[in-house]
Amino acid sequence: MKVLVINSGSSSLKYQLYDMRDESVLAKGLVERIGMDSSILNHKPTGGQEVTEVKEILEHNTAIRKVLSMLTDPEHGVIKSIDEIQAVGHRVVHGGESFKASALVDDPAKTEIRRLFDLAPLHNPAAMMGITATENNMPGVPQVVVFDTAFHQAMPEKAYLYGIPKVLYNKYKVRRYGFHGTSHEYVSHIAAEFLGQAIEDLKIITCHIGNGGSLTAVQGGHSIDTSMGMTPLEGLMMGTRSGDLDPAIVPFVMNKEELTVNEVNSMLNKHSGLLAISGISSDMREITDGMANGDANCTLAFEMYEYRLRKYIGSYAAAMNGVDVIVFTAGVGENSVVVREKVCENLTYLGVEIDDALNAIRSGEPRLISTSQSKVKVLVIPTNEELVIARDTYRIVSELK
Ligand code: AMP
Repeated sequence: MKVLVINSGSSSLKYQLYDMRDESVLAKGLVERIGMDSSILNHKPTGGQEVTEVKEILEHNTAIRKVLSMLTDPEHGVIKSIDEIQAVGHRVVHGGESFKASALVDDPAKTEIRRLFDLAPLHNPAAMMGITATENNMPGVPQVVVFDTAFHQAMPEKAYLYGIPKVLYNKYKVRRYGFHGTSHEYVSHIAAEFLGQAIEDLKIITCHIGNGGSLTAVQGGHSIDTSMGMTPLEGLMMGTRSGDLDPAIVPFVMNKEELTVNEVNSMLNKHSGLLAISGISSDMREITDGMANGDANCTLAFEMYEYRLRKYIGSYAAAMNGVDVIVFTAGVGENSVVVREKVCENLTYLGVEIDDALNAIRSGEPRLISTSQSKVKVLVIPTNEELVIARDTYRIVSELK
């Protein structure tokens, strides 16, 4: 079965076409600037020549049409006909409390995703545009939705409720949902497999740190706590997001600076974090380069980032009464030797000891970076959210037959 995986944003659409016989990627690509002046379609057939086209793509319907024509293009395509695509999997950010697992797209599922627009006003409508555009261009092809929140639905009440009037939960479902669930689930399973141990027996802290970042405490294979909250703003300090802060700061700053709700949201989500503290960039590469060149603001940004990350690791070790494995994944976690080194340097009280030579190795494979004496195994595991979406889609659609 060939499965097309789609991650549809408000002005972008990422895709990967999988052949599920061997889970190989046949092609992948990205449409950017949908609805803007000159949209860009970048397409990479595996083993073939990468192509970039600048076209006018005004909405998602056209974007999907262009993607399908690229996939079947005589020169750059990888399939002869779109009929070869037997299922489509979509990443949907928010599944609320309704979706505890991936689901087939049918009318009730679509109604529910629309009902959740309120909780993820930037993300869910964009995913819905992708679903509708796929339906229009590939009528009759089964579609599956895979949620960032689903893995975290196992969290107990004490972890997901906030200490605010319960009526806000009852009326509006204000609670912790957590995100990056597909990644946390994937890397925790790979970790157990890599170590040759049953996931049921392990206490794992997964650190998904990329441009956005979240940590999850995975106990017995279930998410029992995670650092992002009702929205992806809570938790770690991130590229452009503040992470945790005293909530009283929000009304205080709104009042002093006469900011609207949208302005304060934008400040906390887009103009905070590494970018705000360093004053130059949200990208960890530039922060560590700046630090190496003696830039004081970059050094402070790095120290705050690392300190907050380490405090979360400590709190999740407390939440689980111990930790067997720490996993680093995503852009920063997979690539930044210095972030891993500095975080682990101050976790010796947990029995963490990393091997500097192993930590310095770069490879796209899961690998151990702790010493043989380390009480906690420390792993670097490349995440693969698209593969999880393809697998769930394949499983759900296969069960239809
Ligand atoms: P992601 O959101 O998982 O795609 O991660 C993107 C982020 O990873 C970038 O913004 C960078 O901050 C970070 N990143 C990528 N490569 C490196 C690297 N070699 N060293 C440090 N950070 C990196």
